[in-house]
Amino acid sequence: MQNNRYASIIVDVANAEVDRVFDYIVPEGMQLFPGMHVLVPFGPRKIDGFVIDLKRETDVPENKLKAIIRCMEDFPALRADQIRLAQWMKETYGCTLAEAFRLMLPAQARGGRIAPKTQLFVSRIREDYPEKCTEKQRELLDSLKEPLPLAAVNASVAKALEKKGFVSIAPQEMQRAPYEGMESRRKTVELNAAQADALFEIEHALNAGGGRFLLYGVTGSGKTEVYMRAVQKTVESGRGAIVLVPEIALTPQMVAWFRARFENAAVIHSRLSAGERYDEWRRIISGQARVVIGARSAVFSPVENLGLIVVDEEHEHTYRSEHRPKYDARKVAQARMDAAGGVLILGSATPEVSTFMRAQSGVRPENKLTLLELSRRANGGDLPEVQIVDMRQELARGNTSIFSSALVSALRNCLAEGRQAILFINRRGYSTFVSCRSCGYVEKCEACDLAMTYHRSGGHLSCHYCGRMRTPPTTCPECGSRFIKYFGAGTQKVEEEVLARFPQARVLRADLDTTRGKDAHMRIFEAFARGEADVLVGTQMIAKGLDFPNVTLVGAVAADASLNAPDYRAGERTFQLITQVAGRAGRAGHKGRVILQTYEPDSPVLQMAARQDFRAFYSEERLYRRRALYPPYTVLMRLITSSNDMDAAQAAAQSLEEKVRTFIEEGGYAEDLIHMHSKEAPVARLDGKFRFHVFVKMYSRARTDEITRELERLSREEIPGVEIEAEINPTNMM
Ligand code: ADP
Ligand code: ZN
Ligand code: ZN
Repeated sequence: MQNNRYASIIVDVANAEVDRVFDYIVPEGMQLFPGMHVLVPFGPRKIDGFVIDLKRETDVPENKLKAIIRCMEDFPALRADQIRLAQWMKETYGCTLAEAFRLMLPAQARGGRIAPKTQLFVSRIREDYPEKCTEKQRELLDSLKEPLPLAAVNASVAKALEKKGFVSIAPQEMQRAPYEGMESRRKTVELNAAQADALFEIEHALNAGGGRFLLYGVTGSGKTEVYMRAVQKTVESGRGAIVLVPEIALTPQMVAWFRARFENAAVIHSRLSAGERYDEWRRIISGQARVVIGARSAVFSPVENLGLIVVDEEHEHTYRSEHRPKYDARKVAQARMDAAGGVLILGSATPEVSTFMRAQSGVRPENKLTLLELSRRANGGDLPEVQIVDMRQELARGNTSIFSSALVSALRNCLAEGRQAILFINRRGYSTFVSCRSCGYVEKCEACDLAMTYHRSGGHLSCHYCGRMRTPPTTCPECGSRFIKYFGAGTQKVEEEVLARFPQARVLRADLDTTRGKDAHMRIFEAFARGEADVLVGTQMIAKGLDFPNVTLVGAVAADASLNAPDYRAGERTFQLITQVAGRAGRAGHKGRVILQTYEPDSPVLQMAARQDFRAFYSEERLYRRRALYPPYTVLMRLITSSNDMDAAQAAAQSLEEKVRTFIEEGGYAEDLIHMHSKEAPVARLDGKFRFHVFVKMYSRARTDEITRELERLSREEIPGVEIEAEINPTNMM
């Protein structure tokens, strides 16, 4: 490298104006490689930078050049394929390279704010003993079959021996390992025929330059088992693997299962401490960890010779980042595997309609997925028996409680048999909203145009969007009536109802309020798995991927709660949620039972979910999307402007609309345009800010990407006092 006197560097500044390469002098004797993370002078400051190239010559005049100050690590912090991936991120999401690099290394490593944690260790460096050896010295030397922490031995004896040259005392790196000591209760099994077929195709693709699969299998069909075997094959062939789960804090089971088979597997997710994150990253980049399990951001992990990425529960919205750059981890995973000639597996019991469509015939090759199907439960058990209960009839019979008589008796039987139950409700808190019976007034957050939720434990109303709290009114602020009523139910109310009817039952509640702490989910789920509670009450966080063998009853207390959301995906979401939550029942061969309570028992979506009939749902939904012009047939895009000043937000939306219109017309995309407008957003105020949006609906074509990129670019325009956000096929249209 001696001849490479110059380095091309991307500086760690997100600003688009400096999103280009800067040349620096490589100081004499500095060992530099592409991908290295360095400190450089930049104007009056010293900032982080990344070496993307080394070269002999530069066009920059010598007197304008500055020298690199130092390397932040003694190894490249970015791999070559990550640098290419950052380039792809820039092209696809319109972000800067610096922003893409930030996703690839732990936040604390930037600016060198963290270092490996070290501890002093004593090691024996000679076989023999000192001439005048005391009893204690001999004892210590004999005990040093391997290096021991200084803290664990007699320090003064160790120091004396060090002086004599018989031991060394030196710092060694310690690793802060997340989830250490968690056990796995999973048995090793023989694959059934469907699993073996799936694995065969995956293995073939691994050896034949790559492939993309959709592993579609009903809940409990053994998808996880296939992932683990696929990872094993990948590791055996000398490559590495990443397994993405929707929210790893919710699925510590997955970690335990993988750790049991891949001892060195690294774990990456948002609730790790900075130290843990940094250590896991170092284990990955050093090649020590060949397998990474993680949430969304783990898709950027610097795995050596990456050959496989698995995306479990691919339909979960958590794979889309809500922050800039707003990437979709599934799309990033695909780009990485396409570039590396590796294998992508998207897995789900309820794939997204758009994903499933990509596994059908007639799809453009760049979108194509190969369908692998597991149609039965792996352990031979039946899918649970599902009953839809009409809550209108319950009411007609005089039952005003939130539990139907069917649910109460099923719960009674379940508890009597010593089994466990899961009660699912898509809302935390106690009541969903507070309203006046006389005039219909609804208590709303003063900063957001949204109803507030009553939390019984604190006796307050809380806004789930901005967190503001207030004491509930005793009389209506509009008409003075005293008939203030609490409508709807949340997790707290369900918990209370269980205890009121079954005082002896042990109940655990899992929602955002009970799981704020690090590892809080894990503690609740582990306690439930150990049988320390009979009933688990929770929000959608309990619907995902959990495997509790003793659960025989699942109750969806308000199965239709998400059905009428003002969102084209409301049906799809409800179907996914109900299918997933129902899939928690009867997983270990005991007969499972599911009760869906609803005011809309005739809803086709609920009926198809009750039958776990994804294919029927898919064909209905596909027709609906085509008829109503929704994705994947079209692309919905919007730019949201928000500001404390209503006029500014509105003016910004109008001017952005003009720009989008010009781009569409001048670029020749007009024939793809279906509809466009700018107006107040459905949630017109959020956290005190006024919101407007520019909404664009277009036919989905290969070139639509150019328009989404333009919207991303426009969202970076600087308009004083106004924030701009771009959303492409947003999960939430509010
Ligand atoms: P999924 O990921 O599709 O929900 P899992 O892989 O978690 O399914 O498997 C569900 C249950 O079936 C687990 O308890 C697992 O141990 C068991 N299982 C998986 N594959 C087999 C098999 N081939 N034979 C017997 N049991 C299996
Ligand atoms: Zn009133
Ligand atoms: Zn609010």
